[in-house]
Amino acid sequence: VLVNGNVATLDESVSAPYGAVRDGVVAVADGRIAWIGPSDRAPRELVEGAAETVDLEGGWVTPGLVDAHTHLLFGGTRAAEFEQRLGGATYEELARAGGGILSTVRATRNASRHELERSGAARLACLVDHGVTTVEIKSGYGLDVEHELRMLEVARALEARAGITVSTTLLGAHALPLKYADDRGGYLDLVCDEMIPEAALRGLADAVDAFCEGIGFTPDECARVLHAGRDHGLAGRLHADQLSDLGGAALAARLGARSADHLEHTSDQGVRAMAEAGTAAVLLPGAFYFLRERRRPPVDALRAAGVPLVVATDLNPGSSPVASPLMALNLACVLFGLTPEEALIGMTRAAAPVLGFEDRGIVREGARADLACWRVDSPAELAYWIGANPCTAVISGGRRLR
Ligand SMILES: [Zn+2]
Repeated sequence: VLVNGNVATLDESVSAPYGAVRDGVVAVADGRIAWIGPSDRAPRELVEGAAETVDLEGGWVTPGLVDAHTHLLFGGTRAAEFEQRLGGATYEELARAGGGILSTVRATRNASRHELERSGAARLACLVDHGVTTVEIKSGYGLDVEHELRMLEVARALEARAGITVSTTLLGAHALPLKYADDRGGYLDLVCDEMIPEAALRGLADAVDAFCEGIGFTPDECARVLHAGRDHGLAGRLHADQLSDLGGAALAARLGARSADHLEHTSDQGVRAMAEAGTAAVLLPGAFYFLRERRRPPVDALRAAGVPLVVATDLNPGSSPVASPLMALNLACVLFGLTPEEALIGMTRAAAPVLGFEDRGIVREGARADLACWRVDSPAELAYWIGANPCTAVISGGRRLR
């Protein structure tokens, strides 16, 4: 039972900002939320008979954070490239010169499974320390059957090791490997006819994703990948309209993808298509910030159209080395104009369905007991502080992790 604090339920049926229940109590049993309400109405046997009590000390408890877009498994870093970019080179120039994603592919293939798991576990632990209880991890730095599947295997292993939920996404169509520089069709055959079926057969992937971009894959190529995923029962995601408008958002909507991610260059037409299809907008302000992009995603239009706004870290070595979900909330507010409440909902209630989860992201009776406790006076502080970590406890499936 969690006592002596306030609950940001984020439940729309609670008519207060953040779905706040002040001086609230949350009781957990069998990995689920058994009771939530004001302390003066809490059943006495629940509070007094609790096997374990968490004292919130006047702070707040929120749903555990859901980071719905990460590439947190990789070999090496791209710190040297960061230095080159500060010397004047652009992300696209570095990518075309064989740097960028392909340099991380080399480092990832060369890393041992143990090294990949160790460095991934450290980054995952950083997210958990900041309240994350569900995380999506993409492959995409293997770019052949063996190494893509190995990334997904390591992601699955991290779930058991970290004690939180890991959702895996096959991102074979992240970049064209050098070996296929003159054979795009051959590589897409490999992704669609070998990687996807094998990952689905072995239960290694929950979704497929593709990088729809001039330096990535064309809309037709991405459609082929998401179709192949769907044929094997895997949900779709899409990296869309980050550096240019290739109509990625509308494509994601048309293909029934759960989300279109990035969206800096998305048109009004793309926004309308997403709204009609129910496609969520995953905003990744860490990449916008780190690449010093100028054009912001059309947040006002997305909001007006009723498109769910999701915020994620995009944790990756090249364009968003953001290992703090709270930093992503802050960037979403400062750079993209979300309110702190929208940002927090974007990393909880709005994020869970992007990974196919309907049982979390809200503090409500019957929901999975994924909770994060914070030493703050108001939930807005989660998006306010930069570089602070007010997280005092993390509970995943009813089990306290820290
Ligand atoms: Zn990404």
